[in-house]
Amino acid sequence: MSRPEIEVRALHKSFGANEVLRGIDLEIGRGEVVCVIGPSGSGKSTLLRCVNLLEEPTKGQVFVGGTELTDPDVDIDAVRRRIGMVFQQFNLFPHLTVTENLTLPQRRVLRRDKTAAAKVAAENLARVGLSEKAAAYPSSLSGGQQQRVAIARALAMGPEVMLFDEPTSALDPELVGDVLAVMRMLADEGMTMMVVTHEMTFAREVADRVVFMDGGVIVEDGTPEQVIGNPRHDRTRHFLSRLL
Ligand code: ADP
Ligand code: MG
Repeated sequence: MSRPEIEVRALHKSFGANEVLRGIDLEIGRGEVVCVIGPSGSGKSTLLRCVNLLEEPTKGQVFVGGTELTDPDVDIDAVRRRIGMVFQQFNLFPHLTVTENLTLPQRRVLRRDKTAAAKVAAENLARVGLSEKAAAYPSSLSGGQQQRVAIARALAMGPEVMLFDEPTSALDPELVGDVLAVMRMLADEGMTMMVVTHEMTFAREVADRVVFMDGGVIVEDGTPEQVIGNPRHDRTRHFLSRLL
């Protein structure tokens, strides 16, 4: 088997005296979709943020596409370009149109010229079903549309992996489905994805694996059928019972 796309080894992260990640080992293969679930404060966001070095690990190693991010000599900007991230809050630039939101990072970071960036922007807006909103400003869009723009913006950078941190948690319930549909499409296309989510139906139907975290450790890691359908640990059962 080839090397995993994402590899986390003995990862620890402390904020002061608070040890938030207490030894995480995780491998995600190319094209695999892994959903990370667990109670609030269990370290899910911190883990995701360590995978693109938005947080610096205290100890341990992170590899993406075979490159060690935690190597002090790594060109972190070059590695980050290969990793797309989508947050709960969409973080669009309010003073830019949808197209400009997609072209700006391509031009700044990838040094694409205006025409090339506009073409890639249009392609990715079409992928998320928002071609007709190209000239709109974020404030005129629904939350679900804004989140789809945020996904398109990440895709326009041509990432090898996509990280999602509770991408539907800030949305009105009727808007969640459209965002999940876009994520499902990406999964079907073979994107490597790590998704922190409370959407158990999505996890059951789309994830290859589900990871349950609690207290800064991985308690269970298996197929959705194993972890959601037939959890082995009390902590997992307790967490799932409160979601239903
Ligand atoms: P989750 O995403 O599972 O809710 P987080 O990873 O956000 O959990 O947080 C885990 C713990 O780490 C919490 O106790 C939180 O207060 C703490 N934490 C997260 N980020 C920071 C930070 N930048 N500074 C200090 N503490 C933090
Ligand atoms: Mg979080």
